[in-house]
Amino acid sequence: MSGPTIRRGGVGSTSSGTFVLDAEFVLRWVVEAAARIDEQRDFLTQLDAAIGDADHGVNMQRGFTAAVATVQSSSDRSPGSLLEEVGKTLIYRVGGAAGTLYGTGFRQIGVTISEAVTPDGEALLSALRAGLGGIQALGAAAAGDKTMVDAWEPAVAALQRTLEAGGETEEAARNAAEAANAGVEATLPLQARKGRASYLGSRSIGHQDPGATSTAIIFGALERALRRRP
Ligand code: ADP
Ligand code: MG
Repeated sequence: MSGPTIRRGGVGSTSSGTFVLDAEFVLRWVVEAAARIDEQRDFLTQLDAAIGDADHGVNMQRGFTAAVATVQSSSDRSPGSLLEEVGKTLIYRVGGAAGTLYGTGFRQIGVTISEAVTPDGEALLSALRAGLGGIQALGAAAAGDKTMVDAWEPAVAALQRTLEAGGETEEAARNAAEAANAGVEATLPLQARKGRASYLGSRSIGHQDPGATSTAIIFGALERALRRRP
């Protein structure tokens, strides 16, 4: 028998299926993020060398490698608890300011997904918004302070705008990734008001923020995780 002509959403999401926020999606996201962080490790470190202490790439690589192991070795099939585990792993293994901030963000994402009624794009949006809330509650950075918030906030806003306009989750994630990249570009002329880079005062101007850059990588990974199976 040839396959059905009706396209159906299966487990996870593909360009021909409905998005399902499940354990397979979490694995794809974390694996994609870790792979892209591996590729960009030296670049992230160079950015942090200019306005910090040159450890962001190594920190993120260590943390996301550990996060992949956490998800792969877990028998838990709940996407929310998996992401909470990812958050805990990031707190312990990334280190630095970013470790606590990303770890808290991912734990919050996990908690929110666990509470979601339907595992859909709206749940993803609520979770990412809660992740941003966790990062801001902890780090007290607002957009414009030259931190990861400068990428995270426009990404969540773009996701929300697309979903509200009736767009698919896949398109929303693409717009979120683009907005995160634009947010990164926008950190260049800013003077850092939070974190280690703020100690440099006006000397932080003209440099791209490392944490905003890693956030854009994480949103790029989210887009890819939504686009295809591993
Ligand atoms: P550390 O500064 O402890 O070495 P990392 O180098 O791993 O930590 O991460 C630096 C990044 O963390 C910065 O580029 C910035 O984006 C982010 N960051 C620092 N402080 C804050 C904060 N208060 N709120 C949000 N993000 C922050
Ligand atoms: Mg650093």
